Amino acid sequence: MFLSVILPCYREATNLPAMLAALQKVLDQIPGTKEILAIDDGSPDNTYDVLCSLRPQYKYLHIVRFARNFGKEAALTCGLNMAKGDAVVMLDSDLQHPPEVILEMLEKWKQGDRMVYALRRNRNSDSKLYRLYTKIFYWIFRNITDLDLPPGAGDFRLMDRKVVDALNRLPERNRFMKGLMTWVGFKSGSVYFDVAERAGGISSFSFSKLFVFAINGLTSFSTIPLRIWSLCGVVISTIALLYLGWLVIRTLAFGIDVPGYASLMCSVLFIGGIQLISLGVIGEYIGRIYNEVKDRPIYIVSDEIGSDSIDLLHNLMVSNPCCKPPR
Ligand code: UDP
Ligand code: MG
Repeated sequence: MFLSVILPCYREATNLPAMLAALQKVLDQIPGTKEILAIDDGSPDNTYDVLCSLRPQYKYLHIVRFARNFGKEAALTCGLNMAKGDAVVMLDSDLQHPPEVILEMLEKWKQGDRMVYALRRNRNSDSKLYRLYTKIFYWIFRNITDLDLPPGAGDFRLMDRKVVDALNRLPERNRFMKGLMTWVGFKSGSVYFDVAERAGGISSFSFSKLFVFAINGLTSFSTIPLRIWSLCGVVISTIALLYLGWLVIRTLAFGIDVPGYASLMCSVLFIGGIQLISLGVIGEYIGRIYNEVKDRPIYIVSDEIGSDSIDLLHNLMVSNPCCKPPR
């Protein structure tokens, strides 16, 4: 067996020594070849130097550095593109995702699950507002897309080679990984874990970033926001038509009266607002099409260390049958 572990790292210099040590402890219990793919997502701190300084201790550490910060989704995409394992695990490098869970995930994988996602047992570390926000997001997502996103499942998961290959075939630049990983399908299982506090540093996801992330997710998987405006148009025109009928009858019965400025202003402003909102939503989708047709790469790698030595280790393992694991 060949197991790849993807670690997206952004401003994680303080967490990486402990993170790799904890991961090593777990990986030592797993037979076969292993690789740790640490993707430095253009960190402004010395994350990359720390990774390089740790390399002599971890022979299966493969370090990739992005030319700038491309975001966690891009880092995960790069990890999936480069991972060579029969099974691939993704986890955060801030020790919030306990590496021991990988052992349970592997058990499930061996029993036949192609994807094993880790569900958070509690959300106590999140604020009430954040919990409400995620609840609303999942509710909307479930109602306007065909996808059944498992609530509580994040990016901490194990995927079989087949799932990784399927994900690598998806060409879109706008990568809402949670949605894509559900979209590809495959037999899935879950394990539970207790989310830990961030070991050091601060989270890179503010509320405004999460809002943009949620809008990205929704517009990547549903065109219902576009269709809503046709429905709005039908409803408003029907009401306007009924009102017109009433005005004609009233004028015939009682003659013309001049007042009406306030109601006129209200309806003009209301319709104007609706039109602007609908234009905004259409613009959102056009922006997405624009980004896709530009066909720019999802990430740009500036430095890479350690890929060859992992190949060498794996070839040694494969050519020496006594070290070959059962699967
Ligand atoms: N991360 C990344 N690129 C970014 C932001 C974050 O690779 O632009 C990584 C980060 O190093 C961590 C994971 O994504 O391993 C989750 O980030 P964070 O802990 O900031 O988010 P939270 O746990 O608060 O959702
Ligand atoms: Mg975190």
